[in-house]
Amino acid sequence: MTTPPKRLLVLAPHTDDAELGCGGTIAKMIRQQVEVRILAFSRAEDSVPPGAPKDMIEQEMRKSLHSLGIPASAIEVLGLPVRIFPSYRQEILERLVAVRREFAPDWVLTVSEHDIHQDHQVIHQESVRAFNATRLWGYELPWNNLKSELNGFVLLSEEDVAAKARALGHYQSQIELKRPYFTEKFTESLAMLRGLQARSAYAEAFQIIRERQ
Ligand SMILES: [Zn+2]
Repeated sequence: MTTPPKRLLVLAPHTDDAELGCGGTIAKMIRQQVEVRILAFSRAEDSVPPGAPKDMIEQEMRKSLHSLGIPASAIEVLGLPVRIFPSYRQEILERLVAVRREFAPDWVLTVSEHDIHQDHQVIHQESVRAFNATRLWGYELPWNNLKSELNGFVLLSEEDVAAKARALGHYQSQIELKRPYFTEKFTESLAMLRGLQARSAYAEAFQIIRERQ
């Protein structure tokens, strides 16, 4: 990426995917005054710890994105049920097309093609349909990727990586479930590994799906 985009749209199948996949890039874009919008498709109500409120992860997402500098008005969370996105393909595509018309993003970050989660695959495929003439990159979630095609890198500062780790720290429900990728150590290690590949201290890596200058 040479010149920053004007309007960045980040697509998250579930509430935590945007920060996990590209939280450092979001932090950097906000720092560069880019208008960022987040569209999440599910509140992940089935992924809350037993006894916790159903909207717990949505609330955590709002706090997390707020900590990255995204205003509430730039966050949209839809209520699709987890794991059955394949039954909602058409609704998803129509929503994506509506956002494209209304927000006109010049850069879209979605899930990579190599993600094996059924909901993530649907979001990837419908993003390609809706944004086939827009710069479109796919973020990695390595625990869901059996193979990787990482040919796009966003170089990050230490401050961006810290902002990503801080944002993920708001997901108490997932930290309680001991998901290792919510730890600061993991966030920093992955950013260092991708940075090494990009000849930088820190980076996030992406699959370039469609490039348009
Ligand atoms: Zn997800």
